Amino acid sequence: MFRNLTCIECPTGCTVTVTVEGGKAVLIEGYGCRRGHDYVLAEVEQPERILTTTVPSGNLSVRMVPVRTARPIPKALIDDALREIRKLRVSQPVTVGDIVLSDVLGSGVDVIVTRDVS
Ligand code: SF4
Repeated sequence: MFRNLTCIECPTGCTVTVTVEGGKAVLIEGYGCRRGHDYVLAEVEQPERILTTTVPSGNLSVRMVPVRTARPIPKALIDDALREIRKLRVSQPVTVGDIVLSDVLGSGVDVIVTRDVS
């Protein structure tokens, strides 16, 4: 199977063609540099995303507190991670970087606040 992906590592936006067999990238063509090769390889074999969402607050200055994962997590965990995050409520003032959920789903990645809320 062939996949065409646009590399997003720099503004050039190379179109990279990947031959995929059994979930593995067996041939990668069209990348302009090593970063593009590595981006496409990860995107095919172990795609990850930073998850960004909001958590309800309890009686704070905003109704919803923006949060995100501190690092990318496997794309396959996104739906389950969202379900875990939806159980949260922030009821104390927080500052950027405060952890609202540690080690989400055993991924080793924390969910952190992205704005100060008093
Ligand atoms: S392959 Fe390299 S040159 Fe091309 S878009 Fe990606 S980072 Fe930029």
